[in-house]
Amino acid sequence: MTDYIDAKNLKLSKKDMMTCTMCGFCKSVCPTFEGVGKDTGVARGRVILSYGLLMKDIPADDSVIEALYQCTTCMDCERRCPSKIKVVDIVERARKDLVDAGHILPKHRKIVDNIRTYGNPYGEELSVSEALGEEPKRAKIGYFAGCTSAHRNPKIAQATLSILKKLGEDYTVLNETCCGSVLSRIGLEKDAMHQMQLNIDAIVEQGVEEVLFSCAGCYRMFKEEYPLHVDVPFKVRHISEYLADKDLDLGKLDKKITYHDPCHLGRHAHVYNAPREVLASIPGVEFKEMSHTTEEARCCGGGGGVRSAYPELSEDIAGRRVDQAEFAEILVTCCPFCVTNLRAGSEKNKSDIKICDLVELVEPLL
Ligand code: SF4
Ligand code: SF4
Repeated sequence: MTDYIDAKNLKLSKKDMMTCTMCGFCKSVCPTFEGVGKDTGVARGRVILSYGLLMKDIPADDSVIEALYQCTTCMDCERRCPSKIKVVDIVERARKDLVDAGHILPKHRKIVDNIRTYGNPYGEELSVSEALGEEPKRAKIGYFAGCTSAHRNPKIAQATLSILKKLGEDYTVLNETCCGSVLSRIGLEKDAMHQMQLNIDAIVEQGVEEVLFSCAGCYRMFKEEYPLHVDVPFKVRHISEYLADKDLDLGKLDKKITYHDPCHLGRHAHVYNAPREVLASIPGVEFKEMSHTTEEARCCGGGGGVRSAYPELSEDIAGRRVDQAEFAEILVTCCPFCVTNLRAGSEKNKSDIKICDLVELVEPLL
């Protein structure tokens, strides 16, 4: 494949790309570089390749496409970058240009087709509410479960619904469809915006005042990306923020626990304290941070479409993250996607550590 693409979206990042000094500080944090081991697998390599596409210096061949789609969009390089290069914007704009030029990975093509046909990336015929066995209705609080909780990790959705029930909330499941996160990450902005409007219309129809999320990716979409494109006429909170605001009377749990910050919840949506406050409110818990934590937390390897397109790379990254938690009995996180990927990494490591979502830990203690 040797075509030179019309990189319209990358034009918006030209100045940023030219500002990169190629210092290589991003090498010390990039989770994919640790696995790929060459410069095209790190932020500065992706910046150079994107610049090459923009200037038509290089064609969009398979090696360039692979390098740009192996980025998990974790944003750790941006934290480390002395020049404050917006690497994730560059990568996602490059992906939009690649998709516009007809370059989409087969695994991603399938995801897009599934969302267009079924409203979820997994090709499941049941809606989210049908999968959870609840009828959407009008209520004060709406729970946006997300496709991964509903169709791949239902214990997280069921635990969240049980918490809302135990706390006596006027809640409902929503007539939701895919939030559009994966579409935005892999370069299909128009499809993502279509999903945004479908969700906003459905939620408004149900008259909810506040929407709660247990998925970090869905939450980041509604909090950070939806307002750039659509009116969001209701409050949004991650379930960890909701729980931290409650005066919970939780049962005792004598366990050594640590916490993994999902990139979508932490660096992308700036929620760091709420999950830790909830963990601190559990009597008996011995909490210890991992070596890379909060703003410096390492990625689980699951995001940016990497898990679907490059599962081995994704699991290797997850395995390295699980290694950092081996002092604990339970590794808690706040995202069904992170839970799934960390479990895959743990399996690969043959680790005994228990990995669960915050809601799964809290629900039996309420
Ligand atoms: S840290 Fe920033 S400026 Fe340095 S090479 Fe990486 S992206 Fe470029
Ligand atoms: S966003 Fe994450 S995976 Fe992508 S280049 Fe930056 S550090 Fe690497």
